[in-house]
Amino acid sequence: MKLLKEGKAKKIFISEQKGFLIQYFKDDATAFNSKKKDSFEGKGILNNKITSSIFTYLNNNNIQTHFVKKINDREQLVKELNIIPLEVVMRNLTAGSFTTRLGQKRGEKISPPILEYYLKSDELNDPLINKSHILYLKLASKDELEDIENKTILINKLLSKFFNDLNIDLVDFKLEYGKLENDLILADEISPDNCRLWDKDTKQSLDKDLYRNNTGNILTAYNEVLKRIENV
Ligand code: ADP
Ligand code: UDP
Repeated sequence: MKLLKEGKAKKIFISEQKGFLIQYFKDDATAFNSKKKDSFEGKGILNNKITSSIFTYLNNNNIQTHFVKKINDREQLVKELNIIPLEVVMRNLTAGSFTTRLGQKRGEKISPPILEYYLKSDELNDPLINKSHILYLKLASKDELEDIENKTILINKLLSKFFNDLNIDLVDFKLEYGKLENDLILADEISPDNCRLWDKDTKQSLDKDLYRNNTGNILTAYNEVLKRIENV
């Protein structure tokens, strides 16, 4: 298989079917723009399973996503998209850069949830940008931005319910979108690598913060998330 691109957590291969790609989940974990880098045996398998379940749920709820099917432990068949280089972040509870940048207490409810945009650029360290910047940089049109916003609000509602049913609070998450002709389609992954997930009772993190902050074992936490998904 021909490698199309390799990112920090995944590889993308050209598929035999035109218009489709293979998304391969690696075991690598990075934080702080790759200043911290490690590998956890089996993480890719866990994220592939978790992402496959979540994208199936979104597809079943009329959200257009790139996900076609899970092929094996580490690979998914996805639609090839022109990725918009934006990290679309939605926040339901205060955490992470929101607390440090704005001097806010962690764990406060944000109502209504706050949508943020970051430019996807390792060289520039993913700067926070607003809609005017996006229009200036011609990353998306006004209509596309409205579409991104509406879809992200809807996805947040669906994901919050999904995790709520697993006794997990969806604190925040990052999405990526891509274009296929005139359609705006959800891409990439949704896993504990790009969501903050807190157990509702213990408030324990079940996500990559355990790795960022050296506060626990991500494999144990990701396994727990998968176990709850599979037991529904
Ligand atoms: P990163 O280092 O950017 O976080 P990843 O390790 O997640 O990257 O690698 C996945 C790469 O594939 C990212 O650049 C992502 O934008 C891209 N990608 C995800 N889904 C698709 C798709 N459907 N079509 C094309 N590219 C995709
Ligand atoms: N996030 C991500 N990729 C990034 C930056 C953030 O997936 O490059 C996710 C992160 O896991 C969290 C949300 O986006 O769920 C908000 O992250 P934040 O801005 O707080 O950044 P952090 O402090 O995690 O770098």
